[in-house]
Amino acid sequence: MSDWLEVGDRVFVRRYAFYDQNIGVVLGEEGVLLVDTRTTHRHAREVRDDLRALTSRPVSVVIDTHGHSDHAFGNHVFRPAPIWGHVRCVTMLRETGERQRARLIEHMPDMADDLREIEIDPPDHTFTDRATVEIDQGGRAVELRYLGRGHTDNDICVVVADAHVVFAGDLLENGATPYFGDGFPLDWPRTVERLTGIIDGPVVPGHGDVADRAFAERQHAEFVTLVALARQVHGGEAALEDAVRRAPYPVSTAREPLERALAQLRGELSGFAPPDPA
Ligand SMILES: [Zn+2]
Repeated sequence: MSDWLEVGDRVFVRRYAFYDQNIGVVLGEEGVLLVDTRTTHRHAREVRDDLRALTSRPVSVVIDTHGHSDHAFGNHVFRPAPIWGHVRCVTMLRETGERQRARLIEHMPDMADDLREIEIDPPDHTFTDRATVEIDQGGRAVELRYLGRGHTDNDICVVVADAHVVFAGDLLENGATPYFGDGFPLDWPRTVERLTGIIDGPVVPGHGDVADRAFAERQHAEFVTLVALARQVHGGEAALEDAVRRAPYPVSTAREPLERALAQLRGELSGFAPPDPA
């Protein structure tokens, strides 16, 4: 009995209740590619144990879709496997990793011991626009694509072309308001538009149900609406409270996305604007 969902030929997703998170696996002839590593070493070891339902082989290559704790803090458990991520995923983990850990300990004191034992271990294989990662000598490979800023400045997607599956990381989130706290709301619609263009089968969001291209298009439309509302507030044509009510998210969660978009409109977001990907 396995709780892995096969979403394409030897491409699996397992959904973990903690953060309603999706972890991906692509099997090669011998190699095992893992997409994201969860928040703690305990969580990562759980993934490693759960993998026994699919293969007796160890993880041979890891992808971090971005530098948030729930996607990268389990990395160290899978060493000595090479770990791939965007070059700014490394920056994010180096510059904000301890802050992310401190915030988690503050919000989840019950998990403090697990959170303290994490060895933050950023990717050692990086790229800027795209990279091809071979799973093993058997010829199976995935393509990593950076499509622009969105949920962070370092989101990548994992394209398993031979199985028509795309792992979208947190560029898409199903069943909950996307997290905008480190996001670039003004860039996000165009990035998801690019993403939508390469979806030709199941798309796996970082959190929530496995979805499809129509879902990505709906989420794109929501990002467009959010930006339009923020521009109205920024231009003095609407009150923030009015925009919160009209936003495409529940009222209780719509303020953060709007405030983040307003901050970007005011030029307040830190970091540089990377060039558009090729
Ligand atoms: Zn995230």
